[in-house]
Amino acid sequence: AKVLKRGRATFFSEDLSLAARERIRMLTELRAAFSAERLFLAYQPQVDLKTGRVLGAEALLRWKTEDGRSIPPDQFIPLAEQSGLTVPIGEWVLRTAGRQLKHLADRGYDRFRMAINVSHTQFREPGFVPALGRALRDCAISPQQLELELTESVAIGHIDSTAAKIQEIRSMGITVAMDDFGTGYSSLSVLKQLNVDRLKVDRSFVQEITERGDATGIAELVISLGHQLNLVTIAEGVEAEEQRRQLLRMGCQEGQGFLFGRPMPAADFERWLAGQG
Ligand code: C2E
Ligand code: CA
Ligand code: CA
Ligand code: CA
Repeated sequence: AKVLKRGRATFFSEDLSLAARERIRMLTELRAAFSAERLFLAYQPQVDLKTGRVLGAEALLRWKTEDGRSIPPDQFIPLAEQSGLTVPIGEWVLRTAGRQLKHLADRGYDRFRMAINVSHTQFREPGFVPALGRALRDCAISPQQLELELTESVAIGHIDSTAAKIQEIRSMGITVAMDDFGTGYSSLSVLKQLNVDRLKVDRSFVQEITERGDATGIAELVISLGHQLNLVTIAEGVEAEEQRRQLLRMGCQEGQGFLFGRPMPAADFERWLAGQG
């Protein structure tokens, strides 16, 4: 039995070191990608559910590898978190989206809203709010056009300081959305204690709408909760007309998803936007 055990241990440790090597390789590539500007942002429209009018966009991070593959953010953001790259990448996202926002504002889209994702590590960084202020100034954008998407995870164990920071950010004129709501642990109590502007209905709940074939479910609960707390609700991952219809009936005001538009690189997004009239 001992021999067998040792054998297995060896097997596992080789396996682990393979995973570790793979991680290090990816991390090295990510650093290189960051400095070689192989990260870019794709912009996905956010629309008025009733009229289809474009209200803004969410900036979504993309990594284009040297051999032309595109690595989705879910795969490399956790890696960045472990490696100290979160803050520099986050700052790059803020500035890149900020410049794009300014570019659009100068072309007449002066009420357009740009939403960016902020990870909890970035949000908790003491320098985050000053960096926000600098980016607003340097990009010459109006704070009212900027929105931060935060997940409940920012508040875990830090509810008071998080609430205070959100207040500080909102007092600058920037709006805040609660992202992926309902997928975490302490949703209800967190939402009540944090003062946000918008509530994002997670894609998993939007998907359920057509799968279940009826209109009840978590999406409806989240939307009515939003109403009670006086928040604007926006549904993500809207793919079907039937979902749009049901969401509207539930009182959801805004939407985002393939039904309206996919995430697009800046130039494509601008062309798409111009075609919306
Ligand atoms: P998220 O914030 O929940 O973003 C929405 C995700 O849903 C995006 O995936 C988007 O492409 C996808 N999506 C939108 N509409 C549809 C639809 O109709 N159908 C389907 N199947 N998917 C749809 P993406 O771009 O792969 O991003 C994944 C996650 O990575 C994001 O989830 C967000 O948590 C994170 N992320 C993206 N960009 C950034 C960033 O700049 N900073 C940080 N910290 N996180 C980011
Ligand atoms: Ca988001
Ligand atoms: Ca989301
Ligand atoms: Ca989501």
